[in-house]
Amino acid sequence: MDQELRERVQREAEKHALFNALKYESDADVGAVMGPLMGENPEFRPHGDAIPGVVGAVVAEVNEMDTAEKRARLEELEPDLVEELDAEEDAEERVLPDLPDVEDYEQVRMRLAPNPNGPWHIGHARMPAVIGTYKEMYDGWFVCRFDDTDPETKRPDLDAYDQILDAIDYLGFEPDEVMNASDRVEIYYDHARELVEKGGAYTCSCPAEEFSEMKNAGEACPHRDKDPETTMVEFEAMIDGEYDAGEMVLRVKTDITHKNPALRDWVAFRIIDTPHPREAAAEYRCWPMLDFQSGVDDHLTGVTHIIRGIDLQDSAKRQQFVYDYFGWEYPEVVHWGHVQIDAYDVKMSTSTIKGLIEDGELDGWDDPRAPTVASVRRRGIRGQAIVDAMVELGTSTSNVDLAMSTVYANNRELIDDEANRYFLVREGVEKQVVGGPDAGHPPVHPEHPDRGDREIPVTDGVVVEPDDVPANGKRVWLKGYGCVRHTRDAFEYTGDDISAVREEGVDVVHWAPADQNVPVRMRTMEGDVTGVAEPGFADVPEDEMVQFERVGFARVDERGDEATVTYFAHP
Ligand SMILES: [Zn+2]
Repeated sequence: MDQELRERVQREAEKHALFNALKYESDADVGAVMGPLMGENPEFRPHGDAIPGVVGAVVAEVNEMDTAEKRARLEELEPDLVEELDAEEDAEERVLPDLPDVEDYEQVRMRLAPNPNGPWHIGHARMPAVIGTYKEMYDGWFVCRFDDTDPETKRPDLDAYDQILDAIDYLGFEPDEVMNASDRVEIYYDHARELVEKGGAYTCSCPAEEFSEMKNAGEACPHRDKDPETTMVEFEAMIDGEYDAGEMVLRVKTDITHKNPALRDWVAFRIIDTPHPREAAAEYRCWPMLDFQSGVDDHLTGVTHIIRGIDLQDSAKRQQFVYDYFGWEYPEVVHWGHVQIDAYDVKMSTSTIKGLIEDGELDGWDDPRAPTVASVRRRGIRGQAIVDAMVELGTSTSNVDLAMSTVYANNRELIDDEANRYFLVREGVEKQVVGGPDAGHPPVHPEHPDRGDREIPVTDGVVVEPDDVPANGKRVWLKGYGCVRHTRDAFEYTGDDISAVREEGVDVVHWAPADQNVPVRMRTMEGDVTGVAEPGFADVPEDEMVQFERVGFARVDERGDEATVTYFAHP
């Protein structure tokens, strides 16, 4: 091999070694470099025997560099490869599919349009998770618009407005704007008047059933052809409260013979006698239907992309008629399937959860048995863990299942480092310890020796969980203390030679002192559990996460007089 060829081999090998090391965030190795090197450079093949030696030296040099040096060097040798690396990294992070036709808009603008008829169940977290993530992807914008124009059947819950904004914040997003549809009723009236003037709507006093029969037969009702002036007078009378509920509606004139009957002359406004719970909107009786209200708002707020359930496909088609009358462009729409959730006995439905709370079967929206945002939050699950799991589900039109185990795995990664270790013994059995040291000293965190060791006294005996008591004559390893043998009714210390565990298969168990312990009540999805924790647990501040070894992660909720209340997060 002459000098020139050797230099070329070195140069090519270095590029591959740098690229590999950066891509996999690890050391480069000769084998991984040889394949592409020989594949791309057939002229090297006659020198096959000598090349691994040259490559080996290059790889060793590359492995001496830190990441910044590797990047700088690759930038120097082959800038395209650095770009390729960055693109791959972006693709890994970006699990959501691209939104349609993004390039046609100056800014991606979306809306989160919750109905404030109750706090959120976990399924509701999907929309902010996905919209918030798209906002980050495209440097976009989103409004949180409370679609609260049905004071009767989907009656707003006055507390839910703030609870929903809180939930969005917990998930890690902030709306660029917040608005209530019930503050915008005059705007909907003005648009309805304009629509009437354009001949796009008519007031109709047909009883609902009669209209439905005519509509299904593709026949116009007698009111369809009235002149806009009459309609205007009657619509103003609707606004002024001159009709009772059911006496008069305003219909959008669509196509009375449309092949989809759901699109034929749909109701845009109706009378609701029940006053709106918000004082600012309590006087209104003439209310827009959701399709009219949201259609107008989406246009006025410049929404470019709508994400909605596949079950609402007709909405876009209904609203298209209004958009056509006004000459507006309809936003891009992504329809997605339903999300189901496992692990819960309680159905993920606002009305079901509300009912169970009213009946006293659940303690509230944050009861750990309720599949709600408030309950997972109280258990110490980070919003990010939910967002990541939701984003992973994508936006396909098929129904998807959210596995809580995915949320738990995400959360474990987020909290493991900060969660210090403690022992919690549930329904413990007491044993005296004979011989051995006065205290055990397990580490505060196995990966952070700097946090030191705990001190757990054994002089007054210990408690262990019933299943952890070995048969008489058998041994068990009290973690952080040592090995004990169950003799008659006590634990006899037999030493701290770890080979008992590693070679003889003695079980390692958690334990707590029989005295000087901290009573704990732990709330779980299966009901409450009681037990005692080691003394050091008394110093953990409220709201902090801990790991009860061999039990799982929990959030310290409240220091009560009788017991510390904790919420179980996950194993
Ligand atoms: Zn009619």
